[in-house]
Amino acid sequence: MALIVMKFGGSSVSNAEKIKHVAKRIVEKEKKGNKVVVVVSAPGDMTDDLISLAEGVTERPDEREMDMLLATGEQASIALLSMAIKHLGWNSISLTGPQAGIYADTTYTKARITKIVPTKVHKELNSGKIVIVAGFQGLNPNRDITTLGRGGSDLTAVALAAALKADSCEIYTDVDGVYTTDPRIVPNARKIEYISYDEMLEMAGSGAQVMQARSIEVAKKFGVQIHVRSTFSNNQGTIIKGDEKLKSWRKKMEDVVVSSVTYDKNQVKFTMLGVPDRPGIAAVMFGALAKGGINVDMIIQSAPRAKYNDISFTVTKSDLKKANEILKKVKAKLNAEAVVYDDNIAKVSIVGVGMRSHAGVASKMFNVLANAKINIDMISTSEIKISCAVKQDQVSRAVAQLHKAFKLHK
Ligand code: ADP
Ligand code: ASP
Ligand code: MG
Repeated sequence: MALIVMKFGGSSVSNAEKIKHVAKRIVEKEKKGNKVVVVVSAPGDMTDDLISLAEGVTERPDEREMDMLLATGEQASIALLSMAIKHLGWNSISLTGPQAGIYADTTYTKARITKIVPTKVHKELNSGKIVIVAGFQGLNPNRDITTLGRGGSDLTAVALAAALKADSCEIYTDVDGVYTTDPRIVPNARKIEYISYDEMLEMAGSGAQVMQARSIEVAKKFGVQIHVRSTFSNNQGTIIKGDEKLKSWRKKMEDVVVSSVTYDKNQVKFTMLGVPDRPGIAAVMFGALAKGGINVDMIIQSAPRAKYNDISFTVTKSDLKKANEILKKVKAKLNAEAVVYDDNIAKVSIVGVGMRSHAGVASKMFNVLANAKINIDMISTSEIKISCAVKQDQVSRAVAQLHKAFKLHK
């Protein structure tokens, strides 16, 4: 008897019809003699709607209360889905993250899972029930419910699959796999059959919303193989697995230098102007941001003019207000001239393991953008990724041009 974790995203449970469809898919799995644990996200855009509601009440919602609010979205889904399964004549039970034994740290709104004690999950499975767990949430040491960062239901699914030593982890969504780029932007994007954790991690980290980046970190750490597939078809999707398991693919993958193009419109660029050029400045600035739980992405420091520098970097838009408050204090402390931000930017990236051993990939990317008259604002690289910040209204064109130039549609 196999144990299967099935995760359904918000777009798969956005109305009663879809919830009934998902219930049928779950029952089909159970009928085949599997034990099934389901992880589900909040219906449709509910999380976004709850955030807007909170921001209508106060400019800077308290983070503990925000978690209390956002966790309700997933709670609606688990109850509705369990009702739909029972209606089909099967036995099921809905569990919140805390009930499922998911423990997290105290970083409200983007907590990390610290441990999973799935005693109740096992007990309910052993009594023959389909177990439906709320994604995106856990219990912190203050006994508060907390959320795991946007897209966090993917993380719940992967972490549960690891803790339960599940035989498979299936992520059901509104696309039938991971594509060479977002199929909503480039209609001739191609479905990728197999992808390594490292590439998927870079894709997710640079904006490919289809999987949450932290879920891939956990999958890599515990060797959880993931199948990303469609809720609405039976097509084979994309398998995400370790590099070493991709050996037979390696030859082919090395021929393919760039395997995907990603974009992220959820970025904002801060610039600290006129910072004194002396040791320790960056440590103070980025230390304060890190203490506030803010991740910094691309960083540029200009060459000093008359002993002063400008330092620019990007953060995600949801951190804008918090980062601005922190940076105003840092500005005063460092005696800098000013802190400004620009939220009219977006990041476009190319990803591929083949980049490790190929020269000239960056210059090709820059040429493609230059020929399309797209100005590059910032650049950052990793071993298998190159990212450029560009103007927001040019990013879709940048994605399409790069997808074409690197022949990803073929
Ligand atoms: P869910 O609600 O199931 O969690 P998401 O909206 O989080 O689904 O993720 C699925 C969406 O990710 C797709 O609708 C697609 O537009 C987007 N996406 C972005 N990049 C990619 C990519 N490279 N491959 C597949 N989908 C992508
Ligand atoms: N509902 C949460 C979000 O919208 C978690 C998820 O969908 O994975 O981010
Ligand atoms: Mg998602």
